[in-house]
Amino acid sequence: MGWFRDWRRARILKHASLDADLWESVVLRYEFMAVLDAEEQRRLKELTLLVLHEKSVHGAAGTVVTDEMRLAIAAQAAILVLNLGIDYYRGWVEVIVYPDEFVAKYDYMDEDGVMHHVEAPMSGESWQGGPVLLSWADAEEAGRGRKYNVVVHEFAHKLDMANGTANGFPPLHADMDRGAWAAAFTAAYDDFCKRIDEEELAIDEYAAEDPAEFFAVVSETFFEAPFEVRTLYPAVYEQLRLFYRQDPAARIERADAAFREGRAA
Ligand SMILES: [Zn+2]
Repeated sequence: MGWFRDWRRARILKHASLDADLWESVVLRYEFMAVLDAEEQRRLKELTLLVLHEKSVHGAAGTVVTDEMRLAIAAQAAILVLNLGIDYYRGWVEVIVYPDEFVAKYDYMDEDGVMHHVEAPMSGESWQGGPVLLSWADAEEAGRGRKYNVVVHEFAHKLDMANGTANGFPPLHADMDRGAWAAAFTAAYDDFCKRIDEEELAIDEYAAEDPAEFFAVVSETFFEAPFEVRTLYPAVYEQLRLFYRQDPAARIERADAAFREGRAA
């Protein structure tokens, strides 16, 4: 059915369009999307339209989801798969937006076989084969040159889940080396967990939670503050560059050079 899906998507793109003013005010206020070149912007718009068409965004607990919110979420979902394609988000359709942190209730069994009931405030959550949950108050913190981006974080979990449970090992491309991925991430994760108790690092401490969170948090930083990842864990940066097929640090360097040239001219 691949041809049918492609045909339908081509039709959607032919008939849909995004409001240029809305794009500029909503999407380009995120620094990491504003630095995309014209060709990347064009493809980001196409993918954003497909995300908007194929996923539904609902409000919960009284949240009214505006066009701006819907667009901001869809564009940030789209940038992760800019060079991967929207099929990486197969198998689920729903994004649920809460006004603020929401309470997740779940049970889990520890190593001693004891069941625990947990009620924890969450800024975001991704369910295997199910929805992405987001706190809008937290989502709004993103894109201001900080390393925190709950939207990118949750969609990174979705990519990790594309080949089963989230474990920090998303489906790698045929030209990637699984051993190199494992070596880079294991060494970085061990180093991070050792150092984070003692010192402030450029990557959020939540990354120490487990390898799945490490991948999601490092993905946030990869897009929001790529130089931090490149400096702290160059081997991880390289693996993320190969996986996302994007080089956000090089993109910023290019945009800066173009800006300086423009000013000099
Ligand atoms: Zn997470």
